[in-house]
Amino acid sequence: MGYSAVLFDLYGTLAPGGTRATRDAVSLQVADDLGVDPTAFCDLVRDTFLDRTLGRLGSLEETLRTLAGRLGGSPDDAAVERAVGRRLGMTASLLEQTWALEVLDELRDRGYALALVSDCSVETAVVWPTTALAERFQTAAFSSVHGVKKPDARLYRAATDVLGVEPEECVYVGDGGSTELPGAAALGMRAIWLDHPGNDGGAADPGWSGEAIHELRELLGLLRPLHVPAPGD
Ligand SMILES: [Mg+2]
Repeated sequence: MGYSAVLFDLYGTLAPGGTRATRDAVSLQVADDLGVDPTAFCDLVRDTFLDRTLGRLGSLEETLRTLAGRLGGSPDDAAVERAVGRRLGMTASLLEQTWALEVLDELRDRGYALALVSDCSVETAVVWPTTALAERFQTAAFSSVHGVKKPDARLYRAATDVLGVEPEECVYVGDGGSTELPGAAALGMRAIWLDHPGNDGGAADPGWSGEAIHELRELLGLLRPLHVPAPGD
């Protein structure tokens, strides 16, 4: 079967995931906003990664109130608002550093439907619609919205259902975190590992022995235009 859609991971694939140092620096500032112990807050943010990725702590406001509460804090609305702004600002900054726009535009010109499948906390789902990336995609499936994460088939299916395509028609591209490549392959997708340097936030997948590229641009050599333009097209 030919391929008609490309599904992408987000962090480490289309944009940097941010270094641990960067993330901790923001957590220290957020702790200050919320009036809780900075070191304990950094630990708590990391320790709640899974719950936040699955959207179990609610909206960003609810998440920050809950985390502060666990450390004995009770921030007022203005404090939570400052903290929310800081978390959203960090996310927006990461997504602004995308290296993928030209490749995405070319894939769209070639006729491919594009979807995002991302394991991420609620901040990303909030910021995504405002980004230059979002307008290139037909749909985005976020773990924090759907309550499941890769490699759960339901998250990939959330994207393919909107596109109206079967998994066998999809190429999946990711830097290999979340066991995302075997998960995509198990559904029948063509899974491609983006194994590239400078990937500061994502997790490499050393167990993946399937197809791999080292730059996103290499996709353009693998995915031909879906139609030949007619004269005057
Ligand atoms: Mg990734």
